[in-house]
Amino acid sequence: MTRRKNKELLELAMDLGGEEAVEVIKALEKKKESTDEELAEMTGIRVNTVRKVLYMLYDQGLAEFKRIRDKETGWYYYYWRLETKRLPEIIRSKKMAELKRLKEMLEEETSEIYYHCGTPGHPKLTFDEAMEYEFQCPICGNMLMQYDNTVVVEELKRRIEELEIELGLRKKPRKSKK
Ligand SMILES: [Zn+2]
Repeated sequence: MTRRKNKELLELAMDLGGEEAVEVIKALEKKKESTDEELAEMTGIRVNTVRKVLYMLYDQGLAEFKRIRDKETGWYYYYWRLETKRLPEIIRSKKMAELKRLKEMLEEETSEIYYHCGTPGHPKLTFDEAMEYEFQCPICGNMLMQYDNTVVVEELKRRIEELEIELGLRKKPRKSKK
């Protein structure tokens, strides 16, 4: 696996199952094929949690297992390994979903003018709503001012552009003249 692919895999693992998923994946990378108990031993994570992570990875198409019967005891052992064939596809669809969400946020920020008292956490109101409250914040009563969302809008646009470039939906901008 390339370095970049590996980084993406670990980031995805973090999103899906937090630190524990990252540790299980690292252990699987080292050992290639292991049982849940071996993984628990390697990572120091409880075997129940290791199992939960493994099933989650399996659901996502990122892990496979092989069932092997021990001839002496008759017990079945499950040997797990990573499966990264679907990784690019999974990451791409996650990025597409993120892009959609950002575009909706941008749409919301740019389609309306909002009014706000300036205190973080107090509601942003549309013009009609602000009218209803006679341009006073419904929480603190301070005067509502037109909310300047330039910074938010710029940040959203920047992240959308970044994602579109990563997804190959937009060309990388040429080096800008300075
Ligand atoms: Zn307020």
